[in-house]
Amino acid sequence: MKIREVLTSEKPTISFEVFPPKQDTDFAEVERAVLELASMHPEYMSVTYGAGGSTRGNTVRLAGAIQRIYKVPAIAHLTCVGAGKESIHEILKDMQASGIENILALRGDRPRDFEGEVYPYYRYASELIADIKEFGDFCVGGACYPEGYPEDANKEENINNLKKKVDVGCEYLTTQMFFDNNIFYNFLYRIREKGINVPVIPGVMPITRGNQLKRAIELSGTNVPEHFRNMVDHFGDNPEAMRQAGIIYATDQIIDLIANGITHVHVYSMNKPDVAKAIRDNLAGIVE
Ligand code: FAD
Repeated sequence: MKIREVLTSEKPTISFEVFPPKQDTDFAEVERAVLELASMHPEYMSVTYGAGGSTRGNTVRLAGAIQRIYKVPAIAHLTCVGAGKESIHEILKDMQASGIENILALRGDRPRDFEGEVYPYYRYASELIADIKEFGDFCVGGACYPEGYPEDANKEENINNLKKKVDVGCEYLTTQMFFDNNIFYNFLYRIREKGINVPVIPGVMPITRGNQLKRAIELSGTNVPEHFRNMVDHFGDNPEAMRQAGIIYATDQIIDLIANGITHVHVYSMNKPDVAKAIRDNLAGIVE
């Protein structure tokens, strides 16, 4: 099933994101966690793509298993960093053979210790998106950044480039994580004004360990509201308290998004079925 059809549901729904193992030897363990998440029947699941294509086979394998075993629609992420046209077309063929219809197309970042041409064929995600659309019948989405993107001079430039991505066929957008919903509402207003009218799926990351916040900020540069920082400062050294506080904060963010008319929220569930289940249980009666 194509994600553009999934997103037409008027009832609030949530989806989960998982990541493949870095090493093949860990595949069985990761697959167990991923299938436990799939058994909760989220609206869809997305499977990330390791830096520079390091997990390419496992992304397709996991996405295929989610669909085959639990009939949950899956999105396979795909990056074009370090990739030529032929290697991307090989992966697209693998996806078709595994029944994958949905792709989140990304530029990707230069992997650590990577030598060689960083963007040998596709320079931006928009070029990858255009090529995928030409290649076959995929529903293709892209990433967006409510707090701007470090390489852009300002938010305006970022939104203008986002418009290019949508104009070449990007059918939905998933946001970078954020901890302050007002930043998302503001962003939505600004992109709608610029004529970007595709569905925008907010991504919510439950922070359940004290040191996870530092890593999340390093990766995304996201703004941390004072009350959230206070929470992490206070509970960060107490694993059980931090886990509970992080689940409640993420639940609260999702409830606020739904109360403001957002029908679909993507949860960065990080291969943690227990965290995803706790959020789902908190939302019983609110989401499908
Ligand atoms: P682009 O959309 O190409 O943008 C990159 C830069 O180029 C921006 O500055 C943009 O403004 C500019 N730009 C874009 N198009 C044009 C144009 N036509 N002309 C001029 N400038 C342009 N990384 C992974 O390795 N694997 C994953 O699975 C993964 N999943 C992600 C999921 C989400 C929801 C998000 C938000 C990010 C994810 N990333 C992933 C990280 C992503 O690969 C990096 O953030 C990367 O640096 C940017 O990718 P992009 O697709 O947003 O790039």
